[in-house]
Amino acid sequence: MALPPIPGQLNSSQGRSKQAALIGLRLLLALGLSIGISHIKLDYLESFFYDLRVKTKATSPNAKKVALVLFGSQSAESLKSDLSATILSKTLLKIEEQKPRFIVVNLRLKDITGTDLEKKTLSDMAAKIPGLYLTSNDLLLKGDKKTLSMPYPWDTFPIASAPQTSDSKILARDNVTRRMLISYQDIPLLHTIVAGTFNPTINNLNNIHGSFKFAGSDQVYVDFDPPGSFPRFSFQDILNSKVKTDFKDKIVIIGNDTDLVSSDYVQTPYSRELANMTTAEMHANMFDTLLLNSAPQKMPDWFNTLLTFIIAVFTVHIVLSLKPSEGLILLGEVLLGFIGICYLSFWLFGLWIPMATPILAVFLCYYFLIPYRLIIENRRSWEYYQKNKLLSQVEELKTNFISMMSHDLKTPIARIQGMTNVILTDNVALSSQQREAVDTIKHSSDDLLKFINAILNYGRIESQGVQLHLQTKDINNVLHEVIKKHEFLAKVKRIQIVSELDPLFPIPMDADLMRQVLSNLVENAIKYSPEDTKIMVTSEERDDHVVIQVADQGPGIPQDELNNIFMKFFRSKNVKSSQIKGSGLGLYLAKYFTELHKGRIFVESNDGKGSTFTVELPMEQGGSHA
Ligand code: ADP
Repeated sequence: MALPPIPGQLNSSQGRSKQAALIGLRLLLALGLSIGISHIKLDYLESFFYDLRVKTKATSPNAKKVALVLFGSQSAESLKSDLSATILSKTLLKIEEQKPRFIVVNLRLKDITGTDLEKKTLSDMAAKIPGLYLTSNDLLLKGDKKTLSMPYPWDTFPIASAPQTSDSKILARDNVTRRMLISYQDIPLLHTIVAGTFNPTINNLNNIHGSFKFAGSDQVYVDFDPPGSFPRFSFQDILNSKVKTDFKDKIVIIGNDTDLVSSDYVQTPYSRELANMTTAEMHANMFDTLLLNSAPQKMPDWFNTLLTFIIAVFTVHIVLSLKPSEGLILLGEVLLGFIGICYLSFWLFGLWIPMATPILAVFLCYYFLIPYRLIIENRRSWEYYQKNKLLSQVEELKTNFISMMSHDLKTPIARIQGMTNVILTDNVALSSQQREAVDTIKHSSDDLLKFINAILNYGRIESQGVQLHLQTKDINNVLHEVIKKHEFLAKVKRIQIVSELDPLFPIPMDADLMRQVLSNLVENAIKYSPEDTKIMVTSEERDDHVVIQVADQGPGIPQDELNNIFMKFFRSKNVKSSQIKGSGLGLYLAKYFTELHKGRIFVESNDGKGSTFTVELPMEQGGSHA
């Protein structure tokens, strides 16, 4: 018949359903937190983590199809002029001689000096150069009849939409340029058209890696190379014919680099410094991204929510199930592993895995749940405290009861022993049957007294009542006494006790307690050894210690029990089923008494090949009072 469950304890099916409810609750908690966190706008933080990945990425080799021609302060100095229509015309003609595929003019025409006639001549000349376009931030709507144009004298200058985006009012709001438009209302823009002549696969916009829809446009993230990655030439180099074949079949971007006008520069993931990268170089990066079709791919929002959920589940589990220190280490490892995966997937595959929300999930889950965990822990330790209090009361009652019982038993036993001694020493003739009966009474009462003494000692230990009474004595004397006392017992089993005791200096010890320790070892050796065997008792000095060994040729102790034999009430499973009597307290007391002397006791034994018990006592100080 099955036993009814102890009140307060759960049976296995109740336990399982409680476990399932707990897991469900945790999943729900993690789900709620991750959905909540996914709705927090973390664009600034996310972009910050993105920029870190861009900065640390080993630069991908660029397509080597883009070159920059920049009008810088040195050009102005050596040409002794601002950028004029005449200088630009001459430069364009020089570039055109080298047959580039495209010339992209990234200049503000209104800042170009010269007469209207010079400007008009430049504009007309530009119109005749195939593949020449002025970049414009303006966008044409689908079906719009009008074309992009400038007022006279620039009215003939070919213009194309190549807008520059920066996160100033949306997303990260940090004025950094990260994205570019590839088409607006499904009409491809300049970068896409130009790059498509080199890399026809991108003419189908669906083939462009990492593209996403944003406010009526298709966009990609620019695969930026660090500033200075594209070949650059100055106006004076071109005009002095220093550049011969560099532009053949390439895209030449003409721009400003005068350090004077902030709008000639952009902030990029590489740096927020002004004058970090010219807008011309930004366009070079945009062309290059499409030429290589290497735009980073941002993972979709659902992936972000899923990832946040998984990480939240993990954090909730760690915080609520593991030890705080272990949990913290594991959480740190998970966080580092996650960050490592994010970096690696960006560096190797251009995958942008969101980091801000999952990391925030870890911190929020941790800080929300730690107080909850503390409350639970507190309640648990209060329960443990209460249970412990009850257990110590029960333990105290038990110890008191045992010692009271043992005291009360000792007196009748002493009387029985007294009476049997009277019978045995009296000269009255006893029949052999009577003598056997009296002998049995004597042995049984001896065993009972031993047991009661062991219990009494145990009670004293439990109530911390054992005191050391140190006296300087030769332990060999105690050993002689013990061997002598057990000689009769050994003789009955034809066991020979051989002693080899080195002369020793007296040491401080409690002779009574050490006598009990050594008696127990010798008695066990006799008790557990088969007949016609030998017991070896030795003593010697070794490294400031007195070492006593009791070795027998008995059955030995199984390996899996070696660690347990010094535990209270432990008896080997082999002896429990045998006739050999014992309380399982002898070695427990021996260990306790030896350690009171600041010594140690241990056993070496091979199953079936005898046991050797060793007691080591320090020679200098016998121990402190318990
Ligand atoms: P017990 O009263 O059972 O002898 P002890 O604490 O003295 O209690 O010993 C604990 C157990 O260790 C014993 O029950 C026995 O299984 C094992 N043991 C102790 N001494 C020996 C020995 N010399 N040979 C084999 N087993 C031993």
